[in-house]
Amino acid sequence: MSGELTARDLIGEIGLVADRLEQARDELCRLDGLVGDGDHGIAMSEGFAAAARAAAALDPAAVTLSDVFNACAKAFLNAVGASSGPLYATAFMRAAKAAGNRASMPLDETPSLIVAMAEGVRARGQAAIGDKTMMDAWGKAAEAAEQGVADGAFVRETLERIQSAAHNGAEATKAMKAMKGRAARLGERTLGHIDPGAASAALIIEVLVADWIAR
Ligand code: ADP
Ligand code: MG
Repeated sequence: MSGELTARDLIGEIGLVADRLEQARDELCRLDGLVGDGDHGIAMSEGFAAAARAAAALDPAAVTLSDVFNACAKAFLNAVGASSGPLYATAFMRAAKAAGNRASMPLDETPSLIVAMAEGVRARGQAAIGDKTMMDAWGKAAEAAEQGVADGAFVRETLERIQSAAHNGAEATKAMKAMKGRAARLGERTLGHIDPGAASAALIIEVLVADWIAR
């Protein structure tokens, strides 16, 4: 892994995430039905489908990474009325800023995109790790990214740690009581169920990171 992530690669990756969320649509709705209003699979599959269409409409040879992320932010926000709409729009905008106005970035720097997206979700939703939200996946993934850099780990190692941290962070929500969002109204009754937003976040991180590792 010593190459670059180009705008064309990123456009393809948003499409891969959209496909994965489309496959997970019913399961994410089922999970949201246990702790919320049952629409999370629809929000995420439609949001990423809109983001993927907006990204695919760009000329990959003429746009920057930041253009791709900003197009995703706008499309996601327009497509999704649920709380995940502004959360992911902000995450995409932060990723746009981190990626910058360049046609490609070194793959070594991709962990910074996970950190930026997590920071966007945190800034918009004000949830902390432990509140049983998508932050449990994004926040743990970001911590793993920062730790990998601090340890001087090879980027592949850091990316693998990010994937497991996101997965474990999502799983850990089963033992948590929801403190934020719609699920907080159910309080104790959310115990034992995985948070749908954390589950979808782990899928998104898994797909993006797997593609970076494969390059
Ligand atoms: P809604 O609750 O409006 O129906 P979704 O079903 O799309 O929205 O998303 C629900 C998910 O959003 C939750 O599972 C949780 O992970 C996430 N969420 C809700 N509120 C917040 C928040 N303040 N910060 C971070 N994530 C949140
Ligand atoms: Mg919902």
